[in-house]
Amino acid sequence: MNAVMPDHGTTGVAGGHETTLPRAERILSVENLSVSFDGFKAVDGLSLSVDRNELRVIIGPNGAGKTTLLDMICGKTRPDGGRVLFNGTDLTRLSEHEIVRAGVGRKFQTPSVYEDLTVLENFEISLPRMHGLFQSLTYRRRPESMARIEAMAEQVMLSGQLDRRAGQLSHGQKQWLEIGMLLMQEPKLVLLDEPVAGMSPREREETGDLLRRISAGKSVVVIEHDMDFVKRIAHKVTVLHQGKVLSEGTVAQVQDDPRVIDVYLGH
Ligand code: ADP
Ligand code: MG
Repeated sequence: MNAVMPDHGTTGVAGGHETTLPRAERILSVENLSVSFDGFKAVDGLSLSVDRNELRVIIGPNGAGKTTLLDMICGKTRPDGGRVLFNGTDLTRLSEHEIVRAGVGRKFQTPSVYEDLTVLENFEISLPRMHGLFQSLTYRRRPESMARIEAMAEQVMLSGQLDRRAGQLSHGQKQWLEIGMLLMQEPKLVLLDEPVAGMSPREREETGDLLRRISAGKSVVVIEHDMDFVKRIAHKVTVLHQGKVLSEGTVAQVQDDPRVIDVYLGH
């Protein structure tokens, strides 16, 4: 099903000898993470880990703590307890800015592109920052920058749209533009909160292909509700419920898990 399926450290047989294949490299480990809002435990002792080149989907009923989990990974919300190890660094000690610089890109649920600017200009401001305005302007106008923007526009299916105002794009195209802007920073881990909400079936399909493409070479964590979409893209699915991991495995495994059917998929 998936050409970039990472090795998850399974035991294999090579040359007649049983060998342990190298464990897939872990990029993110969330350890026993918790946060309460006014005494309500939105995330409650949650642990999960994500490998390099993995595309992980997080599902679960409304209020399960999915968005709050991403908020804690990207530093928007401070946990009450637990750690978020990214390449060995505890992100819970860093500012949001430092977390971006460490290589974590986050996209929120609603698209937030600059509607009055063109697609090209939106890409230009997302180029990694240089020090000083003058330097950043000259940097952005270098031919290499333009080549990078064109390549990114192609990757997010916006070639030919560079001169349009972002406000004139379809909802799906705005989401793609924002994903492209995130990718310009070359994050090692991309966090996406319900990226296909409000998209047409065709746009969903194209977004699925896009996420599969970008997960080769980086890690992607996607929160999603649409199970058809999840089936198409996920390497592994984590099901959250009441701030905890309820189940984890392949799409087929979690779909067959009676606890998941009971609290989520059965409805
Ligand atoms: P999900 O994304 O899975 O639907 P959320 O992470 O948004 O769920 O929310 C989990 C729970 O935490 C919900 O009950 C929500 O009302 C609550 N919550 C989230 N953020 C805050 C906040 N900043 N203040 C108070 N309660 C919050
Ligand atoms: Mg949410």
